[in-house]
Order: sequence, then structure tokens, then C-alpha cells
Amino acid sequence: MNSEQKYEIQFSGLAAGVHDFEWSLDSAFFEERSSEEILEAQLTSKVNLDKNNRMMTLLFNIEGKVKVICDHCGDDLWLPLTCNEELIARFAPDTDLTGDEVIYLGNSEYKLDVSQYLFEFVMLNIPAKKVHLEGECNPEVESYFQSEEPIKEEKEKQDPRWKALEKLKK
Ligand SMILES: [Zn+2]
Repeated sequence: MNSEQKYEIQFSGLAAGVHDFEWSLDSAFFEERSSEEILEAQLTSKVNLDKNNRMMTLLFNIEGKVKVICDHCGDDLWLPLTCNEELIARFAPDTDLTGDEVIYLGNSEYKLDVSQYLFEFVMLNIPAKKVHLEGECNPEVESYFQSEEPIKEEKEKQDPRWKALEKLKK
């Protein structure tokens, strides 16, 4: 898919009932939004929209993988990603898109750009700790850490600041 695709739902012309939409989210999608965390992406996003005369319920399903940097060894890491999120869009006199879970679409609105939601949902679902599975980190970095860690622990034990902290806790 090219980066020109629009992540828009032209809801005014939609009949009441359920409608499905699908877009791919590639590396360019995240590049355009200046994401430093995601280096590459191969994701499919699906939106299941249920419309009635008062509101629309949008169920987002995003699946695939993203390439990030491993926190432990600094090498590339492909992370599998699955997220399911819900957004309620109520029809209202005035537009208010500031809510996280419920937004309001004013009388003059006829389309909804969901690209920002897609981006945020992906970012929200990237784990805080991004590391390779055990044994899959860069072996050179692994051996460096293995030789460093016991020394560091020993230092911490002897550090007088730790003793001071212990006293504070009591
Ligand atoms: Zn790693």
C-alpha cells in the first residue's frame, strides 16, 4: 500500500447498520507521524462500524508486527502486535474530538479521519519493556552484560548510599 491512502470514513452516506473497513499501516504511516519508536511496520487495521441515527460504534482491530529497538541489546526486534479498541462517535450539534473513548460529530461533519486513532492505538499497545525472547538477544551484548552484572551488584551492596536509604525506610 502506498502512503497516499486516506484513513477516512465517509459516514454521512452510510446506511444504518454494520460496515467494515480495512487499511494497511506500513512503515511510511509511522514515518509521516514522526514516530521514533517504530522503525518499520506491517500491520492490518480493520474497523467494524455500527451506525444508528444517534451514534456510531467503531471497533478497531489492528494486527501484525512492528520493528523496534530491543531495550536490552540494541538490535532490531520485530514485535507481534494485536490490539482491539473501541471508539464511540455520537452525533451532536457541535464537534468535539478531544475525548479518548467518546467523540462528538457536529451537524456539518460528514467524514471521520481515523488515522490519529490508529496511530495512538498502536503506540498504546507497544509494551513498555521491549526485549527479545530469552536467548535471542545479540550474543555479543549478552556476554558483556553477563560479565558486568555481578560486579555491579557487588558495588551496590557496598555503596553507603544504600545503607542510608535502608535507614530512611525504617
Ligand atoms: Zn535483544
